[in-house]
Amino acid sequence: MTDATWHGGAAAVATLTFDVDAETPILAAGRRYADHLMTMSHQAYGPDVGVPRILELLDELGVPATFFVPGWVAEQRPGLAATIVERGHEVAHHSYSHRAPTSLTAAEQRADFERALEVFDAQGIEITGHRAALWEATTTTLELIAEYGLTYDSSLMGDDRPYVLGIGDRPVVELPVHWSLDDWEQYAFLPEPHVGSAIESPRKVLELWQAELDAMRHYRCLFNLCLHPFLSGRPSRLMAVRELLETAQSDGDVHFTRCRDLAAAAHADPTLAPRNPPAVTADPTIYPV
Ligand code: ZN
Repeated sequence: MTDATWHGGAAAVATLTFDVDAETPILAAGRRYADHLMTMSHQAYGPDVGVPRILELLDELGVPATFFVPGWVAEQRPGLAATIVERGHEVAHHSYSHRAPTSLTAAEQRADFERALEVFDAQGIEITGHRAALWEATTTTLELIAEYGLTYDSSLMGDDRPYVLGIGDRPVVELPVHWSLDDWEQYAFLPEPHVGSAIESPRKVLELWQAELDAMRHYRCLFNLCLHPFLSGRPSRLMAVRELLETAQSDGDVHFTRCRDLAAAAHADPTLAPRNPPAVTADPTIYPV
């Protein structure tokens, strides 16, 4: 980093993020799936096989990353979060149960949010950022993030560079995501529950992500890649990620960073003035539902 801006002079900043959802999105679709062993094993592959393989790749390439872990997953697998942190990466808040905030009451959201904080606190994991389950943040979500003094969220899509949201009198950095930089749309396949029906070629996915990164180097953006270890931990998919990272490293103008470090740089960037969070008022006589 060479200056006081969020990008530090780099053509693009890349945050490699892994959402270690494991069984939670499936259980959120129905507790009955706990006894569906193929499905449970498909999800367990993420932390059990994908994460170690991903950590090895990151070590080899010297790339720091951020792992968004639901509190339930950290609780079920004691040592997982600590292992990630010991390897130099960040563990961040990804709800407790991975139920979508948009489907919960404000009180349920608070209970879920706080329960995850308690789990990480008990494990000695320092949490500074948050990503909503399914990216479905609500106003309550942002308020909880500000109330608990977290520095950033990574669930919204209002820009392709970091931006600052004024939540009350507290600024929260938003590190925006987008569907085009998420492996779920490319690879998620399960007959039941229906989480997606895509098994795309990693070559096609690499082409998509490479094109976006090249354009983001042109426009000086945040390349915030969202990967799921149960999806991208699979061999040919991880090889595509390796190729993407190696190409970016050889370009020499892409800065890889953890989300917490980028959020700190964005908070310190005087050019990023706080924006108001989305606040859309819809007239019920026009939009009745
Ligand atoms: Zn998730």
